[in-house]
Order: sequence, then structure tokens, then C-alpha cells
Amino acid sequence: MKLKDLLTEVQLTPAAKKCIEVVTKEFGRSSFPMIGTFNDRNVAGTSIKSQHAFGNAVDFHVPDELKYGPLERDSHKKHRVATPEGKILGDRVKDFLLQHVDDLDIQLIIWYREDWNRSTNFRKGSYDGVHPHYNHVHVDFIRGKQLSSPNYTNRKNNKFLVDLIGAYYDISTKNPAGYFKQFYSWNPFAPGIGDNEEGAAAKLINRFETYKPKLKQIESDTNTSREDLENIQRIREIIDILYQAILDGRSEKFDVDYFKLDTDTNLYKRKTLTFNWNYL
Ligand SMILES: [Zn+2]
Repeated sequence: MKLKDLLTEVQLTPAAKKCIEVVTKEFGRSSFPMIGTFNDRNVAGTSIKSQHAFGNAVDFHVPDELKYGPLERDSHKKHRVATPEGKILGDRVKDFLLQHVDDLDIQLIIWYREDWNRSTNFRKGSYDGVHPHYNHVHVDFIRGKQLSSPNYTNRKNNKFLVDLIGAYYDISTKNPAGYFKQFYSWNPFAPGIGDNEEGAAAKLINRFETYKPKLKQIESDTNTSREDLENIQRIREIIDILYQAILDGRSEKFDVDYFKLDTDTNLYKRKTLTFNWNYL
């Protein structure tokens, strides 16, 4: 099995995987250069875990050139709506999903400030979340049916880098953690992003390059603790290992010592985590 297949396998519930296959088959792969999947985060504006955090949701983004229509004000703020063509594409995807709510085990669809939920028999409702979903169709799947999937429950590997960089969270003015959090949840093999091992490894490094200035800034600051300097060194080492692992198409497992800042006591604790590189 190729690493990229393995990564999709590990990250997504069966329902999410099937939905991507069915929709891209119907609309053509090129209709969706970007498909968002795993992302360990809360629903925007809430403290509730998104189904993306369980690999149980998919975002079908309209292509960039159809994404940026005019600015429009809604109940929250001004948002850029999709172009008319982008709106038509999103409408078609939404309609297609609505026709397949049962065979795809769909729980919820969100598009263009409207939603359709199994709990209300997919009657159209108005969606009032912080994110208006003008540029992507969100779909998630019946939780009860995905609970038996180890991908749904076993998120240990995915938590790893967050723990590692947790030490940075409280250095607010020079904090790369937010960026790193994106980085760790970003899968260079996600559909439409990474096409092969070389491309994905290159993307990993490119992505890392954008954090380097932040890390340098922290390193050059004389107030930076010895522990944080060591953590940065760890991150560098991990990036090197991952880069090589992707190129070689193999998984990696290794122990990493790092310092975690206890925010109550403001003291660092030494921790060891086993990093299991099956997931990215
Ligand atoms: Zn989503």
C-alpha cells in the first residue's frame, strides 16, 4: 500500500472516504482541487469538536477561481461570496448529496448559510454559524455508524505534534503553535493536494519553510528558555525524519523527549512521546 493511501485510510472514516469517491466520480476530480478532511479543531466560534476532528467530515471547496465573488454582508460580517459559477457548482454538489443521504450515511450538509440535517429529515434550515460556507460544501456523517471505525476514536497519533508544541502556547507574541497546529493537521496527501511521494515531501518542506522565520525569531530572542530552544530542535529533527520517511514511502516510529509547559505552575515538565508516523 502506498503511504498516501495509508494516510487517507488512517485519517478518514469509511463514510468520509466513500463520499469523496462518489462525489469526485460524479463531478470529476478536477472540479475540486481542494477537499478538506481531517482537521483537529472545534466548530468555528464554538467549543464543540468538529466532525473534521474525527475524520468524519468532508469539505468540497469550489475551485479558487470560482471562490472569490463580491463582498456581501450577512448577520455576522462581510464575507466574500462565491462567483455565480461557484454558487452553481456548490448547489449541484449539495443537490447531489441530498439525493444520496441514505446510501452515503449523511448526517448534515451545510452550504451557503443553509443546512440540511438528518434530525429534521433534511428540511432546509438556515445556518447561522460563524463561517457562512460560501466557498465550500460541508458534509458529515452519522456518528453512530462510524464509531466502530478505529479512525474515529484513535486520534493519538494526530495529537502528537499538538502536545509537542503545546509548550509554545503561552508565548503569545512569538507563538508558532497556531501555525504548527495547522501544519500538523495538514495532510500533504489529502485528495488533490499531494499526488505522489516527491510532491508531498516537497510540500511538507515548503510548508515548514513558512514557519522557519517564526522559529528563528524565538531562537534569537534572549528571553527564550532553554526548554523551548530544545523543543525547536526536536521539531526540526522530526521534520527531517518525516521528509525522508515520505520519500522512502515508509512509516516511522520513534520516541521523542520534549518539554511541556505547565500553564498552572509555569514550569516545564519533561515528557516522552512515541511518535507513530502512520498518519502524517
Ligand atoms: Zn467542514
